[in-house]
Amino acid sequence: MIYYCSNCWSEISKDTVKCPHCVTDQSALEQESFIQKLIRALKHPEPSTPLRAAETLGELKAKEALPYLIELTKASNDLFLVKAAVSSIKKIESKDYANN
Ligand SMILES: [Zn+2]
Repeated sequence: MIYYCSNCWSEISKDTVKCPHCVTDQSALEQESFIQKLIRALKHPEPSTPLRAAETLGELKAKEALPYLIELTKASNDLFLVKAAVSSIKKIESKDYANN
């Protein structure tokens, strides 16, 4: 079982409290909202994780994720991930027009 820092996604050991790479306190991150966790998962090194995170953020219509999804479409070379991010951006933005 591999454990990752939930901030910088470096590999860490199971009992690590502070990430040796970015010094983030792992227990503090557990207090975060589900959406904040998903936003960070967009940078996960294991390719299926950001894909799932991008899709889930779209399902949740998570407006706060928009800048991160937009950045992803510009920065990522993963075509599947870019597609997922674009479709989630559309879902999130469609909220504004739902009552029209
Ligand atoms: Zn870290």
